[in-house]
Formats: sequence, structure tokens, C-alpha cells
Amino acid sequence: MHSDRSETSPKLAMPDRLHRPEALRALVNAMVVAAGWTPEQARETADHLVLANLSGHDSHGVGMLPLYFQSLADGNLKPGSGPTDRLNAAPFLIVDANVALGQPVARNALERAIPMAKTGGVAILNLLDAHHVGRIGHYAELAAEAGLISLFWVNVAGRPPIVAPHAAREARFGTNPHAIGIPLPGGDPVILDFATSRMAHGKARVAFNRGVPVPEGYIIDSQGRPTTEPRHVFLHGVGADEGLGALLPFGDHKGAGLALIAELLSAGLMGAARIDQKPAKSWIINSLFGVLIDPARLEPDEALRKERIESYLAFVRAAKPQDAASPVLTPGEKERATRLARGRDGIPLDAETWSQIVAAAKRHGVDAESYGKDP
Ligand code: NAD
Repeated sequence: MHSDRSETSPKLAMPDRLHRPEALRALVNAMVVAAGWTPEQARETADHLVLANLSGHDSHGVGMLPLYFQSLADGNLKPGSGPTDRLNAAPFLIVDANVALGQPVARNALERAIPMAKTGGVAILNLLDAHHVGRIGHYAELAAEAGLISLFWVNVAGRPPIVAPHAAREARFGTNPHAIGIPLPGGDPVILDFATSRMAHGKARVAFNRGVPVPEGYIIDSQGRPTTEPRHVFLHGVGADEGLGALLPFGDHKGAGLALIAELLSAGLMGAARIDQKPAKSWIINSLFGVLIDPARLEPDEALRKERIESYLAFVRAAKPQDAASPVLTPGEKERATRLARGRDGIPLDAETWSQIVAAAKRHGVDAESYGKDP
């Protein structure tokens, strides 16, 4: 893993290279299968990670794979792990993921909750102790594709706290994401999906890998001083004498409050891994609390539902922009536009992220360089 504490090393200053989405998908597939998972688990992981890159969320794309492989190498993440049900009684589906590979186990749980919500109008899904489940908007999109409203709160455990409570100078939370999806009949859904830290930890990782500073107002160092150096939020970026800093919550007490709620709802009530309870390991544990609602129970007339949502989105988008070059967007639009652009132009990966992927692949006999890069 990266150990260079300099922000400006020549290696880090190298330009990004563009990769074809299908080449990255094939590479991730090959790596995950070579590491011992099934082709189905590999396909789901590859599709999820590459879609995160396509959506512009490189923090949750293929750059996460070296971390997953480190979990595997340390014996924490095990290909044989699988979920067990704690409760399967509509409207509740509570699944213990037993630290199985996150993306496939989360998709599987969601796909079991969807018919429950279709039948009974609502489903409450609690997935406990999964390995990193990735971009939470992915699940809101899947629920929306099935015609369901969804709300998700997720905690992050198995690592040191990295987000400071409001007014604190040290961390107590993970980046505990929150996502909500509202399907639009015959159209693109509203997908609101974000970390409760002002910046996702993975975005600080991408900045650290690229050797660039983050904007002001996102990070404090171990003494609580504002800094733009992303190394302060990585154990391999700070010295033992220095200690970890923290990401700040978004919206002061509001984001911090939401992070606290996500921890309690997803893991805290059910005794799953909590950020203050488990020792730090080279893994990321997510527990996910989700509510799926059939909108037809709220308004059975689909045409009316469509018209109501569309007219309101149009009203919001028609607000005069601050800057004519940046139109007013509604949640989910930015990701859809980025998918079009990156599907056409390719996915940019910085040199450090790519070299970590190459090294992780090599340990399992996969030659990442043989997977085409330039679109
Ligand atoms: P972000 O700050 O990029 O916000 C994304 C959300 O804001 C999207 O809903 C997007 O459509 C909307 N948005 C973006 N620009 C907009 C604009 N100009 N106008 C209107 N809406 C706009 O997201 P983030 O906090 O960096 O999170 C990135 C990803 O990281 C998310 O997918 C999240 O689920 C994921 N995450 C996962 C974990 C985990 O442990 N699994 C932890 C933290 C975050």
C-alpha cells in the first residue's frame, strides 16, 4: 500500500490514464475469481465498482479493490463467508452477512426484500456486518428499477473513527452514508446518495493518491487544526507520533446528527459491528438499514404520480442558476451525465491507484496491464 507521505512526489504527479469500462469490468472479474469467489460474486462486484467509476464516484470504484484484497490477505475477508437470516418475517428481513463480500451479499438481500415490499407495500431490510457494500445509491437505483421508493442508512466499522462530531476536534463516526431513491414511472429516478462527512473518505484517498490537496473546510489534523492535506485522514499518511486527523461532517450538527442516527439504526440497535467496538483491521464493515416502500400504496394512479414528480423536478431545475455554465440539477442527474461522458471517453484512473490494482492483481496471478487501457 502507499507509504509516501509527500504530497508532491513525481510519481503522484503523473497524469491519469483512461480505461475502457468493459476492460476494467473484465479485470475486476478475473481478479475476484482468481482470489476465490464465484463468477456470480465476481460479476456483481465488477459491475458495481465500474458503475461507481462511470458515475463519477471514483472513491467507490475499482480503486477499492486493493483494500478488499488486503482484507483477504490478512485473513479477515474470506471467500467462503455467506449470509444467514436472523429474521425473515414480512415486513422484516434481517440478514447477518458474516462479513461476506459486500456488493453481492447486499444485492442479494435487497433482491429478497423487493418482493416483500411489492407484496405488503413495505419492507424493512437490515443487513448486518457485510464487508464494504460500495456506493449506496446503487441499491436505491435497483429499488427504483423495481418501482420502489427506498431509504438507506449505513454505518462504517472495522476501522478507526474518521469523522468528527460537530464541534469536536477528534473523530467518533465513520462516513456513514445515507441514500434515498424515488422512482419516476417511465423516467429517471431521483437518487440522493451521499456520505455524512462533507467529503467521502474515498475522495480524500483519491486526492492523496493523486498528490493533490483537498479544498479548505473538509479535514482537520490530529490537533483539530484545519488542513488541506488528505494524508491526515489515513493511517499510512500520518506518523505514529502524529495521529489521525478527521473529516468534518457535512452541514455541521445536521450531518453529524445523521451520522449518529445511521450508526444506531444500521448496526447499533442490532449489536452489529460499531465503530467504537471492534478493533481496527484492514477491512471495512458496513451494516445497512433500508426501508422499501411501494409508491402505488401512496398514490395508485401511476400517471398522476409521474406528473406530480415531473412537474416538481421541472420547477426545481428551472431555478435561475448562480452561474449560467452550471445548470441547477436534481439528485441523480450528475451521475447520469457522468456515465454518458465516461462511457464515451473512458474512466480516468490516477497512477497510484492503478499501480495498487496492478500489484493486487499480480498477487493472484492476474496481469492487469494486459487488460486494455486506452479507449
Ligand atoms: P457527493 O458529495 O458527490 O453527493 C452525491 C449526491 O449529491 C448525489 O445524489 C448527486 O446526484 C447529488 N449531487 C451532486 N452534485 C449535485 C448538484 N450540483 N446539484 C444537485 N445534486 C447534486 O457524494 P459523496 O458524499 O462524495 O459520496 C460518494 C459515494 O460514496 C456515495 O455513493 C456514497 O454512498 C458512498 N459512500 C459509501 C460508504 C460505504 O461505507 N459504503 C461510505 C461513505 C460514502
